[in-house]
Amino acid sequence: MSYVDEAGKKIREKYASEPEFIQAVDEVLESLRPVIEADEEKYRKEALIERITTPERVIIFRVPWVDDKGNVQVNTGYRVQFNGAIGPFKGGLRFHPSVNLSILKFLGFEQVFKNSLTGLPIGGAKGGSDFDPKGKSDREVMAFCQSFMSELYRHINHDRDVPAGDIGVGAREIGYLFGQYRKLTAQFEGGVLTGKGLTYGGSLGRKQATGYGLLYMTDELLKDHGKDIAGKRIVVSGAGNVAIYAIEKATELGGKVITCSDSTGWIYDPEGIDVELLKEVKEVHRARLTEYAQKRPNAEYHEGKGVFTVPCDIALPCATQNELLIDDAKALTENGCFAVCEGANMPTSLEATEYLQNHGVLFVPGKAANAGGVAVSALEMSQNSERLSWSVEEVDGKLQGIMKNIYKNISAAAKKYNLEGNYVAGANIAGFLKVYEAMSAQGVI
Ligand code: NDP
Repeated sequence: MSYVDEAGKKIREKYASEPEFIQAVDEVLESLRPVIEADEEKYRKEALIERITTPERVIIFRVPWVDDKGNVQVNTGYRVQFNGAIGPFKGGLRFHPSVNLSILKFLGFEQVFKNSLTGLPIGGAKGGSDFDPKGKSDREVMAFCQSFMSELYRHINHDRDVPAGDIGVGAREIGYLFGQYRKLTAQFEGGVLTGKGLTYGGSLGRKQATGYGLLYMTDELLKDHGKDIAGKRIVVSGAGNVAIYAIEKATELGGKVITCSDSTGWIYDPEGIDVELLKEVKEVHRARLTEYAQKRPNAEYHEGKGVFTVPCDIALPCATQNELLIDDAKALTENGCFAVCEGANMPTSLEATEYLQNHGVLFVPGKAANAGGVAVSALEMSQNSERLSWSVEEVDGKLQGIMKNIYKNISAAAKKYNLEGNYVAGANIAGFLKVYEAMSAQGVI
C-alpha cells in the first residue's frame, strides 16, 4: 500500500471521532500524493505524514464564569498549536457552540498551510471555546473572556503564539482578552494578539483584510482567465466580518452582490446588497437579517439555507465549514456559476469541490483565498514590533501584493505537478513544501 494510503487509513482509524479533521487531512493528503509518491521511502522513513498531522501541542481547559443572574457557567477552552516550524503559532479564536476538538484541529491544520502561503514567518494554530456570545450581555462576554485568558495567557506571547479573531470573536472580544492579558502579565505586549482596536495597537485595514483579500484573489483568478468582476452577479453567504467586507470590495470592483445569510436565514436583494445597511444591522445592532429586509422593501428574506440556489456568475461562501454541499454545487453549475472562491474555512465539502472542479468551475480554496486576514495580522505584528502604525494605503498595498503572490505560487505549484488549474492541489503543495523544508532543517521535531 502506498505511504499516503497507509498513513491516511491510520489517521482515519485513530481520529474516527473527528470528522472535520479527517476531511481536512484527506483533502491535503490527496493533493500531496504526487509530491510524496515521488520520494515515498524518504517521507515514510521520516514519518512525515504522521508528524504534519499531529499538533505540536493541544491545551484544553475549564472556563468558569458568572452570568448576569449570578449563576456559574462552565465552558471548555482550547488552543491547538499545530505547527510552529516557520514562525510563532498564529491563528484565530472561535467562540461558537459547535466548537470542539475536531473543528479546531481541522482549522489549525489548514492554518499551517495557509500561513505558509502568505510568505510571512508564522506557524499555524487555532483555538476557541463552545461559548456562544449571541444573546449575552457585554458584561457576560467580558467575564467569559477574562476567565478564558486567565488560562490561555500562560501559553501565548508575541514570540510563542499569537491568537486573533474568528467566528464570534471580533473587536469587542479581542479588547477584553487583551485587557486581561495585560493585567495578568503587567506588560503592554501589543504583539500577543491581533485584530486589536486602533487605539491600542491594531492595524488599519485588518478588519477588512479577509474580505478584501478574497476579492483581490478572485480578481487575479478572473483576470488570468480573461474575465473581470465588473458586471458579474455574485452570491455571498454569511453576514459576518468576512462576508461584509467581501461584499464591500466586490461592489467597489463593479460586481453586484445579490445575497447574504446568517445562521437563521438568507437575503436575496436583486438591487444589490446595501453594505452600509448590512453593517448597521450586523456590526452596530448585532441583529438578525430580518431587520435588513424590513428596511429594504425590495429584498426578500428566506428562512434556512438557499444562497447557492440563486443564479450567479461567482459564489463566495463566507460563513462556515461544510455549507456548500453537493446539491449546492449542482445548483451553482446548472445556473451558470463559473467561479467559487472560499472566504470561509472549508465551506465546500470534498464531494462538492470535486463536482465543481469536474464541471469546469474555477475553484480557489480558503487556505489561499482567505489568507488576507492572517497576512494583515502578521503585518499588525510587524507594526507592533516597530512601534509604528502604517497607513491604510500601505497595508492595503501589501495585502494586494500578498494575494497576487499567493495566486502566482499556487498556479505555479499546480502546473509543476501537471495539475494546471487545480488550485486546491496548488495551495496544498506550495504551502506544504515550505513547512516541510523548515521541519527537515530543524531535525526530528
Ligand atoms: P463572524 O462571526 O463575523 O461571522 C460568521 C457568519 O457566518 C455569521 O453571519 C454567522 O451567522 C454565520 N454562521 C456561523 N456559523 C454558522 C453556521 N453553523 N451555520 C450558518 N451560518 C453560520 O465570522 P467571520 O466572518 O470572521 O468568519 C467566517 C468564516 O471565515 C469562518 O469560516 C472563519 O473561519 C473564516 N475566516 C475568518 C477570518 C477572519 O479574519 N475573520 C480569516 C480567515 C477565515 P450568525 O450571525 O447568525 O451566527
